[in-house]
Amino acid sequence: MCGIVGFVSSGPVIDGLIQGLKKVEYRGYDSAGVAIIEQGIIKRHRAVGPLAALMTELPPFQGTVGIGHTRWATHGRAEEKNAHPHCGKGTAVVHNGIIENFQALKKDLSFQGIQFESDTDTEVIAHLFATSEHLTNLQERVLFVLKQLKGNFAIAVLLQDCTDCIIVARKGLSPLAVGQGKEGFYVGSDLSSLSGSAQKVAFLEDETWGVLYKDQAIFYDWTGQEKHLNFYPNPLQAQETEKGDFQHFMLKEIYQQADLVRIQGLPALPAEVCQASFFTALGCGTAFYAAWVGKFFLERLAKRFLNLELASEFHYRNPILPDGVSIVVSQSGETADTLKATLYAKSQQQYVLGMINAPHSSISRQVDYLMPTGAGTEIGVASTKAFTMQVLSFLNLSLALCSDAPLRQTVLDSLKEIPSVLKDIIQRSHEFAQIAAVLSQYQSILYLGRGLHYALALEGALKMSELSYIHAQGFAAGELKHGPLALIDPQHPVVVLAPWDESFSKTLSNLHEVKARNGPIFLITDTKGAASLEGLKPEGLFMYPSLQEPLLQVFPNAICVQLLAYYTALHKGLSIDQPRNLSKSVTVE
Ligand code: GLU
Repeated sequence: MCGIVGFVSSGPVIDGLIQGLKKVEYRGYDSAGVAIIEQGIIKRHRAVGPLAALMTELPPFQGTVGIGHTRWATHGRAEEKNAHPHCGKGTAVVHNGIIENFQALKKDLSFQGIQFESDTDTEVIAHLFATSEHLTNLQERVLFVLKQLKGNFAIAVLLQDCTDCIIVARKGLSPLAVGQGKEGFYVGSDLSSLSGSAQKVAFLEDETWGVLYKDQAIFYDWTGQEKHLNFYPNPLQAQETEKGDFQHFMLKEIYQQADLVRIQGLPALPAEVCQASFFTALGCGTAFYAAWVGKFFLERLAKRFLNLELASEFHYRNPILPDGVSIVVSQSGETADTLKATLYAKSQQQYVLGMINAPHSSISRQVDYLMPTGAGTEIGVASTKAFTMQVLSFLNLSLALCSDAPLRQTVLDSLKEIPSVLKDIIQRSHEFAQIAAVLSQYQSILYLGRGLHYALALEGALKMSELSYIHAQGFAAGELKHGPLALIDPQHPVVVLAPWDESFSKTLSNLHEVKARNGPIFLITDTKGAASLEGLKPEGLFMYPSLQEPLLQVFPNAICVQLLAYYTALHKGLSIDQPRNLSKSVTVE
């Protein structure tokens, strides 16, 4: 899940590399490094910790060809010796993915007398390039190395024998984008690392490699045949990846939701989707919870059955799929588990619909029909606006399939209320800061919700754990007395999502059960719900304006749980945009 960058130009590349690394830091931040060809010699600089640590003693590199890396360790601890780039004699390599046969390769290379300095799988690549120096033809040399590597990888390589180029290669699940700008060629793990500099971009397909020079790039397949890569105008604007006046990307992205949630015309769906009565939704983490909300929308509005599956579990089971449509949900479009699930669904003759935020990603290229979720670039590792836009995509899909015209109209009318309700919540964010100051004292928090709000309780608990490192777990409110009630005491608070709807009175009874055991209650509700508490006094309360259509309460609930997690982490002084151990784009299984 690491971030790779590379830049070959006619002027010094170090600033461009650092700019690119800042953009991919969300992918990994336990260590970072760069390697640059300086007067024909590869020079390297690495540091443990976030990119800021690398910058403190960065030498004044002047070289015009370089690579860089931000790491999310799979093999070997976050120590300087394991930070990329890894070097062999006359080579330097940055790598994203896993070399599955690295132990066997390491044994062979050690037998040849090569000393290893790291615990990573990556280092074998550098030594394979070093031991191939007898092959004077560059193409033969690269293929000699690539053909020995098993697993998933994206790499960028410097060779001292070839000082004017970067070698790039991709196999399997790890993405790699190439950009062409006025100053030269760029490579990066995603488009954001190229944005602002690259006018034209392209993604390397599976089993493709290439050589980037400052004024041209040549690509090949795994047999060495030259291959054409389709470059298209860079869709990313530089300002999308800037924080602006916000303290954190996460806060910027939470705020952006107020302008994003609106219907811009329902999608014209292909016949395969219109006619399907059985849907399977596949996603991981937040995307899975968005699909959970989607199940409610599809069943209530479109009267179609939706089977929910965790993409990370799905294909291992070899599940039987009735004829129908699989909906794959992913922010990055690079999630390895979801990509595997997509390929499995296709192998089972499913028609695959993709709800993907990155329209040019690996999964987007696999699906039969793409619904781009349109959240724009999301930098904060904990997903906020991408979740909301996945939910909106499910709503659009369900409304497009809804044959009950008055119901559809009610939902569409209510949707117009959402931007002002979200703005109202944002303006009162400080109320979450107060609740968060109290919540941050606890070791464990339960999130409760009923029906649709259960999905949001799960998402809220995930957000809280990711950001605040407090153990948080979501439960269906009706399940409380089937087990979790045993946990409730003054040290175990509950965050409850209970705006007024048909199940409100049932959830209220659950809250009395919590109160009777002295459990602190933090309630997120709407004005109608707050007016119906019948004497129950929560320790913390946030209420937003009531909506015409309760199904849409999911939008204000989402922003509330996001703000609560944000302010709890802020109160604890934690790293908000890059929580520990996590990565934005999970490209390993
Ligand atoms: N396997 C490499 C390492 O541990 C790269 C990890 C990754 O791509 O997440 O350094």
